Amino acid sequence: MAMTIDPDACSVCGDCKPACPSGAVVKIKGIFSIDANVCDECDGDPQCMSVCPSDCIQPL
Ligand code: SF4
Ligand code: SF4
Repeated sequence: MAMTIDPDACSVCGDCKPACPSGAVVKIKGIFSIDANVCDECDGDPQCMSVCPSDCIQPL
């Protein structure tokens, strides 16, 4: 499983990218997203979700 970012709710703050230990957060053309093939949900403790101020990261 993987996490996903709701692009409509994301404020593009960028906090999730450095928080990800797996490098799964990518920024393409100004939009942040999570590579589902790389994200391992941090083994049940999603770091990106814990730092996101917009509460827009949810399980895929
Ligand atoms: S859940 Fe963990 S591995 Fe997946 S994108 Fe968030 S920080 Fe990265
Ligand atoms: S931390 Fe949340 S609001 Fe900030 S870029 Fe990531 S998904 Fe968007």
